[in-house]
Amino acid sequence: MARIKKFFLILLVSSIWVQIISCDEQEVKVVEKPNQPSPEAQLAEIQNRIDSLKNFISKQPILKAAKVEPNYGLFQTLQSVGLDLKQSLKIINTLADTVELGVLKAGQIFWVGFDPIDTSKAVLFRYAENPAAIHFLIADYAGEWKYKITENPVSVRYALYEGVLVEGKTLYNTLRDIGIPQTMVGVVAGVLECKVSFRTDARAGDEFKVLLKETRFQDSVWINGNVLYAGYNGSKVKHSEAFMYQEADPKSSYNAHYTEEGEALIHSGLRYPLDRLHITSRYGYRIHPVTGARAFHNGVDYRGAVGTPVYAVADGVIVRSSYDDANGNHVAIKHSDNSQSWYLHLSQRGVGMGQRVRSRQIIGKVGNTGRSSGPHLHLAIKQPSGSWMDPLLKKMIATPKLEGAKFLALQEQIKTIRSIFARTDRAESKNISDSLFATVKWVEAD
Ligand SMILES: [Zn+2]
Repeated sequence: MARIKKFFLILLVSSIWVQIISCDEQEVKVVEKPNQPSPEAQLAEIQNRIDSLKNFISKQPILKAAKVEPNYGLFQTLQSVGLDLKQSLKIINTLADTVELGVLKAGQIFWVGFDPIDTSKAVLFRYAENPAAIHFLIADYAGEWKYKITENPVSVRYALYEGVLVEGKTLYNTLRDIGIPQTMVGVVAGVLECKVSFRTDARAGDEFKVLLKETRFQDSVWINGNVLYAGYNGSKVKHSEAFMYQEADPKSSYNAHYTEEGEALIHSGLRYPLDRLHITSRYGYRIHPVTGARAFHNGVDYRGAVGTPVYAVADGVIVRSSYDDANGNHVAIKHSDNSQSWYLHLSQRGVGMGQRVRSRQIIGKVGNTGRSSGPHLHLAIKQPSGSWMDPLLKKMIATPKLEGAKFLALQEQIKTIRSIFARTDRAESKNISDSLFATVKWVEAD
């Protein structure tokens, strides 16, 4: 055995030796041919590198800040930094396919990068949705725009705010002063107002309880949130509770707040025209996707596959059911308050003139007829005065009451919310301020 080992050892050593020899030979070869460049050549090489660096720097796009002015749409904002119609439309269309831009806010800034040589040509568009999500559109050599997103990590936690109203403070002011973002305060006040008349019945000493699911960047910057629960218990009002209900489809029109009994917490509103809500174009001035002209868009466009059922938003009488080149197949319903709801570009109409329809009755199917750039529903609301209004300003609900499987799903979600209370109850509570009797408790969301 030992002899065999010794044999292998020799074999190993000799093979290393062979390698060392061959290495030596190579090194000698390199040393034998020293090729020291002349000082002129070295200088030329340095100049070369400087030139390529300059070239690299000059290829960086020239950035311009496109600021949203009051009443500006994205098109006007892009034009303000010198983008032409064609380039603006390209950016707007690429965005529509990738990002939900939401409502533009005055003061909001987009960055547009221009080619440093052809300075009229945009090559970059940057939109920071929030500090954690930054969207880019980048133009390639052929002028086609590609979408990219960079996402920074965020923390998600449950926050339970509890307290009592103090003299002279409304629930709205109290929630705002304890640091709940304005949009969340609006949701809490909105759903509780369905059950509590704050104007007359709120009293100092009344108790409130709000559970939020908060997403923050670096633990402090607010990204977004959901009101999972809002509760109110007062001396003049009975205990009221609102629970968030969410379906697997984040765009389901049933996603809203309900009582434990399944009652929708929204004032008598219109019903949604579709089961799934993906807004592709809002009410207001915009560039028409087909004609390219600046025009007033008098309704809301919802994306939908051809054949998706379209529902009446309220009871009424059919005052129009026809076809024309602009609107395609369209239907209009006159409601009891003399307002009208219009439904355009349908593939099929399911109702005739003069017919009475009930809220949530199917009146047709989504289509792409008339002047339309893709399957969608255009919903418009005409006021009794004859002028159009933003349909999104009308409160809409999918159903006044959850029933069947949806009601059972709500009960499951209420159970989950109550189990989060059990966890937050064990968390350490933090006093928010001495003048407001309120505390907050945080637990990490799973
Ligand atoms: Zn439209």
